[in-house]
Amino acid sequence: MELPVRVRSCKMKDYGDTTYLENMKGFRVRIRARQSLSIKLDTVLHEYAHVLSWFGSESEIDDHSAEWGITYARLYRMHLEWDFGRAQKKRAKSGPLPGQLEFEF
Ligand SMILES: [Zn+2]
Repeated sequence: MELPVRVRSCKMKDYGDTTYLENMKGFRVRIRARQSLSIKLDTVLHEYAHVLSWFGSESEIDDHSAEWGITYARLYRMHLEWDFGRAQKKRAKSGPLPGQLEFEF
């Protein structure tokens, strides 16, 4: 199931939030504009884990369920391995990194 995800930088109190909008059949992710880039990236990963684990039986009871935690960990690992594109450049020169795993969503 593919649903649109709209990400916005907003003036808000919290770091960010995620809402499923029934009328647009998609997600709205808001990220607080006034925070450092590294916190914005952490928040995008946190909120995107909500998007990916939104339609699960556990996640309807608890926002930060085990399912959400595993999804967040996988996204974080992908982010670290991606390393702003530097990992791909290294891999192109020397093959896959030792212990490197690929995740599919
Ligand atoms: Zn959360």
